[in-house]
Amino acid sequence: MLYNKKKVEIIEGVKMRWTRVLATKEQEVNTSEKALIRNPEAQDSPKKSRGFFRNIINKFKKSNKNIPEQHASFYHIEENKKSKMVIVITTVLVVMVIIVGTVMLISQNIKKAEEEEAKRIEIQKQREEEIARIEEEEARKEAERQAKLPKLTEEGIANMENIYHSDKKRVFLTFDDGPSKNTEPILNILQQEGIKATFFELGINVEAKPEMVKRAYDEGHYIASHGYSHVYSKIYTSTQTVLEEYNQCIQAIRNAIGESEYDPHLFRFPGGLPGGPYADLKKEAEQLLLQNNILNIDWNALSGDAEGNNLPVEKLMARTDGSVGTKNSVVLLMHDSQAKTTTVEALPQIIAYFRDRGYEFVNFYEIIK
Ligand SMILES: [Zn+2]
Repeated sequence: MLYNKKKVEIIEGVKMRWTRVLATKEQEVNTSEKALIRNPEAQDSPKKSRGFFRNIINKFKKSNKNIPEQHASFYHIEENKKSKMVIVITTVLVVMVIIVGTVMLISQNIKKAEEEEAKRIEIQKQREEEIARIEEEEARKEAERQAKLPKLTEEGIANMENIYHSDKKRVFLTFDDGPSKNTEPILNILQQEGIKATFFELGINVEAKPEMVKRAYDEGHYIASHGYSHVYSKIYTSTQTVLEEYNQCIQAIRNAIGESEYDPHLFRFPGGLPGGPYADLKKEAEQLLLQNNILNIDWNALSGDAEGNNLPVEKLMARTDGSVGTKNSVVLLMHDSQAKTTTVEALPQIIAYFRDRGYEFVNFYEIIK
């Protein structure tokens, strides 16, 4: 391109110099011819010279007419070449842009797909971890639930036979006849002291205060049956009515705690198993209960709170101390009923009494298993 331009410039330069030279000569010839017309005498050899330059001038003028056309043709060819080059370069550039663009687009799509896949895997992983965590939590809750459902085994039966015998000092705090208005303060004291007790509930009272039974159960206390009515003439009508009241009470407990499978396998006869006008019937009922996998337990020590209402704390403490004596394994009878407010007052002292003497506080989850 540069070469061609230079070539054209050179040609133009030559042409312009020749044009100037010839113009000068033409002027000289014209001047000479005019002089000759004016003075025909002056005609001599220069005539030849004038003819020579005239011919050259005419030839040049003639050939000079073709120069622009030759140049136009030359430019035309150059422009064509240039246009083709531009088209080729443009095409190459466009193709390159398309290729680069396509590659970038594909690259971006791949990157986006990879990011989405990584995100999907992460979400899936989180979901699996959440499911595993929920399953673990459910398994833990189920294990806890199962542990609180008493199961009567040979070991449990043997433990019950030896309930009043133990090498180590242990005390079962037991509360009969609840729930009542005193249940809440009793539970508060037990919670504060970190002690698990046993409640022998009456079905009729469970129906009146199910929330108290639920709380006692949730807090790890053992919930057993004391029958439904506590009315001797009703429960001791027959051995069958004893079993019926046991079941009636258990049903009320199940409703209260929301556990349809709950069965403590443990009963306390109202008034105790031995003695009284229904002694024989109670003995027979004990066998019927055993046939239905239900054990029964009385007590070997008491606070004396059944011997009157609002008995002074000192008297309850004295009765407790007197009935415990030197026993290693103590099942202490107390009451959770409306009139036994001094039992609540005495409870912290009763706990301190056993604690000071090195007793361990246990409930029937330790026995029936
Ligand atoms: Zn009772």
